[in-house]
Amino acid sequence: MHVARTLTACVLLLASVAALCSPSVVAAQDSSSSTYIVVPGDTLGAIATRLGVSLEALIAANGIQDPSLIRVGQELIIPNADGTVPVVAVAAATETGTARALAGETIATLAARFAQDAALVAELNDAPPERRLFPGQPVQIPRQAVPPPSANFGAITAVDAPASIVQGRTGRIYVETSRPLLLRGEWNGRSLVFTAIGDDGLRQFAFVPVDALLDPGQYPLHLGYVTARGNFVQRAWLVQVAGGLYDYQEIVVPEDKAAALTSDVVVAERERVVETWSQLTPSVFWERPFQRPIDTDYPTTSPFGTRRTYSVADIGNFHAGQDFGAPEGTLVVVPAPGIVALAEPLAVRGNAVIIDHGRGVFSGYWHLSERKVEVGMWVDTGDVLGLVGNTGMSTGAHLHWELRINGVAVDPMQFIDEAPFAGPEIETSTAP
Ligand SMILES: [Zn+2]
Repeated sequence: MHVARTLTACVLLLASVAALCSPSVVAAQDSSSSTYIVVPGDTLGAIATRLGVSLEALIAANGIQDPSLIRVGQELIIPNADGTVPVVAVAAATETGTARALAGETIATLAARFAQDAALVAELNDAPPERRLFPGQPVQIPRQAVPPPSANFGAITAVDAPASIVQGRTGRIYVETSRPLLLRGEWNGRSLVFTAIGDDGLRQFAFVPVDALLDPGQYPLHLGYVTARGNFVQRAWLVQVAGGLYDYQEIVVPEDKAAALTSDVVVAERERVVETWSQLTPSVFWERPFQRPIDTDYPTTSPFGTRRTYSVADIGNFHAGQDFGAPEGTLVVVPAPGIVALAEPLAVRGNAVIIDHGRGVFSGYWHLSERKVEVGMWVDTGDVLGLVGNTGMSTGAHLHWELRINGVAVDPMQFIDEAPFAGPEIETSTAP
């Protein structure tokens, strides 16, 4: 797979063939005044003087190895007066593609499925967000990948990042480099975990997990690396967080179960699971989409992200996983390869299993009647990990399935539909 897929080809060629691109994309480049394109006769010193910045800051910001070697057409990051690198704001592109509706979808749910803003999709299709769609009905949606304008800097030759991500969903950023680099990224105060794609070390990707309770708005995504000379070069641009379609629910925990619960127990248990999924295994154990952890006969009884209030204190304020209603004893299977990182009884989560899928991706299974795996075991897709139960703070037999990426609880159902390294292909990922 190549980072520069068809939908980004236009944007990646911005500098040379801007006139061929859609007007909205070109406007995004024009709005950025934080870069300078080298023209014939330029020297770094003359550029620094003209821009009113120090030569040293200009060299550091661009990771330049040899100041005498700049080329015409090269794009330079203009540092701030204090030598820091400016944040580049990105206008949302509205270059569109066609998505096909699933049964029962509305404009808003389709927009959420493609990590797009419902209001924007509604506007593009001249229909209200609540408009019901026929299965297979074509809907215009913004292209998912909108790299920052002038994303190429230093040894970074291509960036493919989402323009917007819905609360509780997981975006992906792909980066191509001209030589193997230790990339550093940050999103909402957390470091991104970059993983190589292929063997040449020139392509990497990272998940951008968005907390289900993060307020909608624009948040900077930082990307950078340390140059051979030890300078840290980075860019930042804004990514939109769009509101999710989440319900509210009140959970009444039965008296006999609630009685056993103190906030000390809740806090200690939270620390235990957080410690487990804060580990970072070097390898990725999975390349294919996840399978359902339970047979399709058993429907979702409470989706991920539902805002919750509990009759007992401090269990949480939203539903961090997906619940499937099933009778006690129903098989729970491994959805993707990994290593068992936790398998023990817990007060709130009941009989619990956590699987480490590598590179900060963990899945959790709560309220089991029985565990069938031990810590340290290698498990493969389809292996039985336990049986459905009603242990812990549960109000009836069900499987709670949770997915954590870099510690953030995200919608696990997204990973049933999408391969981990692939961006959603707008035309092909829509088959039910
Ligand atoms: Zn649950």
